Amino acid sequence: MCVFCKIINNEIPSYTIYENDYVKCFLDISQATKGHTLIVPKKHVENVFALDSIEASEVMKAAVVVANLLKTKLKVENINLLNNSGSLAGQTVMHFHLHVLPRYGCDEIDFHQVEHEPNFVELDKLYKSLIN
Ligand code: 5GP
Ligand code: ZN
Repeated sequence: MCVFCKIINNEIPSYTIYENDYVKCFLDISQATKGHTLIVPKKHVENVFALDSIEASEVMKAAVVVANLLKTKLKVENINLLNNSGSLAGQTVMHFHLHVLPRYGCDEIDFHQVEHEPNFVELDKLYKSLIN
C-alpha cells in the first residue's frame, strides 16, 4: 500500500485540515512554503491520466476550500496549484495529489517560463496533429 493510502487509512498520522468522502487534505510534511497542503483523492489513482471526472472535480472543489481556508487563517493572498504526474515531471509519490502552495514573495520557487517569439508554423503543425 502506498504512503498516501496509509495516511488515508489513518495507519500513518497526518495533519488533515479538510476531508470529505472523496478527498483528504493534509499538510505536506516538507512545507515548501507555510501552509503547503496536499489534496489527495481517497481512491488510489496514480496520476492525472487515471483520474476520473468525479475525482477530478472533487479534487478541484477541495482545492478551492483549502485555498480559502489558508486565505482566512494565514492571510494567504497568492497560491500555486501544482500537480506532478510522472517521474520526469517530479512525481515522487505515485498516488495523485494536487499541491496547494501559498506564495509569500520571499521564496526560492520559480515557475516562470522563458518567453520567446511565437513560432506560428510549429504551432500550426502541432495544433493539426492534436485535433486530427
Ligand atoms: P511529488 O513530488 O510526488 O509531487 O510530491 C510528494 C510530496 O509528498 C512531497 O512534497 C513530500 O514532501 C510529500 N510527502 C511525502 N511523504 C509524506 C508523508 O508521509 N506525509 C506527508 N504529509 N507528506 C509527504
Ligand atoms: Zn495510494
